[in-house]
Amino acid sequence: MKKREVHIVGNWKMNQTLEEISKFFIEMSKMKMELKCKAWIAPQSIHIPILKEIAFTTGSIQIGAQNCSEHESGAYTGEISPLALADMGTEFVIIGHSERRMLYGEKSELLNKKVLLALKHKLKVIYCVGETLAEREADQTFSVIESQLNIGLQNIPAELAHLLIIAYEPVWAIGTGKTASAEQAEEVHAFIRTKLTMNADKTLILYGGSVKPDNIDSLLLKENIDGALVGGASLGAQDFRALCSSGSTAMM
Ligand code: PEP
Repeated sequence: MKKREVHIVGNWKMNQTLEEISKFFIEMSKMKMELKCKAWIAPQSIHIPILKEIAFTTGSIQIGAQNCSEHESGAYTGEISPLALADMGTEFVIIGHSERRMLYGEKSELLNKKVLLALKHKLKVIYCVGETLAEREADQTFSVIESQLNIGLQNIPAELAHLLIIAYEPVWAIGTGKTASAEQAEEVHAFIRTKLTMNADKTLILYGGSVKPDNIDSLLLKENIDGALVGGASLGAQDFRALCSSGSTAMM
């Protein structure tokens, strides 16, 4: 039995056509199951309204965004405001995914602005942290994560801290097929929890990095692993359902 509610979060990244989305939900609806954990999906932002409509009829999946702007409104062509996301009834937003940090040069200082603005609009925020392989090999895992937490989470108002979720995603494990062992992940999750200055015992800390139906169970057995942020294995209904089924079992 887990202390905190298990969350399985699918990050669809820049994938899925309308046809694939419809196939995903048709297959999901055929696989009847009683969800005891939370199942969340972050599609491309353009698909949020469609997924929200489907989720409304199925009633079991919450929808979020993969990124948002640090600005509320104005002349920022191509950006998506957290205000607009909140207006659309979006449940959560992922901020600081390693692909945003590495491909788009987003630093923790910028991510802090996004975190604060998203929280202001009452979006749940999944703030991602994680070390590269070079940093792990140089024994810098804990210092890198501590700095990402300290900078990215500064100035969060105490009354909004309950909306924060952390995802530990070692960069070397994302999309590579290499998962951190459950012990490696738990060591970092426990460290993260000691560094949270507010709501530490209740804050969800998700693990991400090549999570699949065949490795999720051992991860969820760990005390400080409260669920998973999943890329590749969240794209197909069969695997996503299997992950949710493991999440549900872990809740019992
Ligand atoms: C991710 O994108 O957050 C992720 C963990 O991807 P994958 O599961 O494919 O490694």
